[in-house]
This record gives sequence, structure tokens and C-alpha cells, in this order.
Amino acid sequence: MQHFPDAKAVARKLAPDEPVILNRPHAAARAARFFVEKFPGKSLYAVKANPSPDLLRVLWDNGVTHYDVASIAEVRLVRATLPQAVLCFMHPIKAPGAIREAYRRHGVKTFSLDSVEELEKIVEACRDPETGEPATDLRLCIRLRVSSEYSELSLASKFGCDLTEAPMILREARQHCDWLGVCFHVGSQAMTPFAYVQALERVRIAIGEASVVIDMIDVGGGFPSVYPGMEPPPLEDYFQIIHQNFYNLPIAYNAELWCEPGRALCAEYSSLLVRVEKRRGDELYINDGAYGALYDAAHVAWKFPVRALEDDLIKPDMDFAFYGPTCDDADYMAGPFALPEDIQAGDYVEIGMLGAYGAAMKTDFNGFGATQRVIVEDEPMASLYDGSRKRPSSAENVVSLR
Ligand SMILES: *Cc1c(COP(=O)(O)O)cnc(C)c1O
Repeated sequence: MQHFPDAKAVARKLAPDEPVILNRPHAAARAARFFVEKFPGKSLYAVKANPSPDLLRVLWDNGVTHYDVASIAEVRLVRATLPQAVLCFMHPIKAPGAIREAYRRHGVKTFSLDSVEELEKIVEACRDPETGEPATDLRLCIRLRVSSEYSELSLASKFGCDLTEAPMILREARQHCDWLGVCFHVGSQAMTPFAYVQALERVRIAIGEASVVIDMIDVGGGFPSVYPGMEPPPLEDYFQIIHQNFYNLPIAYNAELWCEPGRALCAEYSSLLVRVEKRRGDELYINDGAYGALYDAAHVAWKFPVRALEDDLIKPDMDFAFYGPTCDDADYMAGPFALPEDIQAGDYVEIGMLGAYGAAMKTDFNGFGATQRVIVEDEPMASLYDGSRKRPSSAENVVSLR
């Protein structure tokens, strides 16, 4: 991949007709080291947030050894990219063939589930094909439904067993494995650590009623990044509260604590260079959109930081909305995005914080999928890890750049 100092240099040098993804390996490396050094347990990277092999290698090189995968394609991708990585198949509804291939061919032992049907499916799929003997090395993780009320994006309605069924599923699962965990997901971009307190309280009730030994608690993803209008408390506050509430659970003395950050590990990894193709009043027609890296900007009105890259723009900012390049009216990002009043067709704009659920969402719809990727060396447009967000209570909120 080509290297440039920053987005402006890319625009000057390449004058690209198509959007360019600008990757910052140093930012992903810093986020990885932050979790590895400060989370009081093991941090699994949730691959769906951004499955780029280049990113996977950066995370691995900076100490992330475990990966949360949700499909057989993610299992194959991570196994091919990182042969030594520990893969955990954390989608609670899997195809039997996917379980079999993951277990037999890729060494996956850890599976999540939220029903007795899925438990039976896993046990069947992992039987020895010759002898019919059940697997003895399964590590099972029961997904509990928890509230998403403190998160920007809900994950509460689709997966997870209720407190009424959890004790029974935990007892059943315990019959089939020597290592049993409980996991949940509080929803993405959880804006307060209290989201995890509530969830861990539900875990306490479930395992209390089940009276089984629990070897692992997985608090899932949901750790926030920073976006315009969404400034979360420091991640140390999350880690401290999670640790405290984990310690108070009735679990095995040597029980492990896991988390599965997606967004927090990769949001700062990428930004996007786009060009304004047309201006109509306060609407800018740009060359990426709802079917590209701006899926969340269009579909859930997520705000991303923007900056204009031309030196000759002198007027103060005004609010713009964006149209993407496809012929679909839904290819519209309301924003508002603040850019200089004199911006016009032909000007380049950088849109920040698209490393999570941005770069990963691009499609080829309507022929607008082509995207170049380059490396840039400047800082992301916002960071949770560069020391700029210090609070008196968390003066340690810095991880050194190597
Ligand atoms: C999506 C997902 C994650 C990552 O969530 P973030 O909000 O990006 O941290 C973690 N675990 C599971 C099971 C997921 O589905």
C-alpha cells in the first residue's frame, strides 16, 4: 500500500476519481495495546467491525490473540491470515456445516448459543465422524439477552435467552462441556459504563438460579468510539466498573473475564477521501454513500467528522447534507456536515472515523464499489487513545506510540 503524510497529500498526488480509504495502522495498533494493557481480562476482536487482513495483522502484532468470528467465511479468513489465532464462533445461530468445518478443520472450540436446539446442533456437528463419540473439548458460551437502552445501536431483540430460560440452558450445556461461559452484548456504542453493570446483574441472577460452575464471563462489545455529539467517558471507567462487578459474581475462583470490542479497536483505523461531484444549494453530491462506507450515516443518521482539503476555501462553515453516487433517493446522508460555505464541485473532503462498520460495509451496487486503499501517517480526526481526553480520575489515559 502507498504511504502519504495525510489526506491532503493523497488528494494532491492522486487526484482520485473514486473514493479512497485512508488507513492508519498506528491508530489501530494504539487501540489494540490499550485494550491488551488495560482491560482486566482478555480482549477478542469482533471481526465483523472490519475484516481487513491488514488490520487483522496490526491487531495480532499488538497483542490481540483471540478473534470473535460469526460466519464460516470469517473463520476461514482469520485462520488464513493469522494461523496461530484463537477463534471463537460467537454467532448464536450457526449452520451445522459451518460448526463442523470450524471445529474439525480450523480448530475452533468455543461456540456461543442461546437455545437448547443450538446446543444439540453443536454437539451433533462436533461428534467424531468415525466413532460417533461426542467432543470432549467444547467450550460453550450462553448468550444472555440484556438491555440496549444505553447504546446508540440496539442488539437486544435478536439474540440471547431470557432469564426464564437461561438457568435451564446453562445446566444442559454444562453436561456437554468442561468450560462454560456466559456472554451478552449491551448494544453498540454504549455511552455509559452503567450498561455493563445492568447486564452483569442479569448474569448474576441467571447463574445464581442455575447453580452451575461458570468458568468465563464475556461482556461482549459495545465499547464506544468518539464521534461528533457522542463523547463517551474514558474507557478506563468502563474497565474499572466491569472488573468490580465481575469480581462480585458467584463464579469459579479462576474464572476468566473476556470482552469483544469491534468498534473501539478499529473506528480510528480508517477515514475516507471523497470528492464533491456537484453542489445544489446546501446539498453536496459526493462519490461515496449509503451503499459504500457511509452506510451508518445514511441508515441510522450517524454523525461523522468531516474536513475540507482545499487551501483556497476561505469562508466560514455552513451545514450540508450529502447525496451518494448511486441513483437511489435513499443514498442520502442528512448530517448535518459542517464545511466551508464556498466548497464546490471538484473539491475533496475527508470523512473521519470510518474504520468500524464503514470500510467494511462497501458494496458494488450500481457500479460504485471501486475503492483504492492507502496508508496515511497523521492522527485520526478524533481519538480515545492519544491522551487528549484525560480526566483527573484517569491521568493514565495514554498509550505510547512505538
Ligand atoms: C458486533 C458484535 C461485537 C462488536 O460490537 P462493537 O459494538 O463493535 O464493539 C461483539 N460481539 C458480538 C457477539 C457482536 O455481534
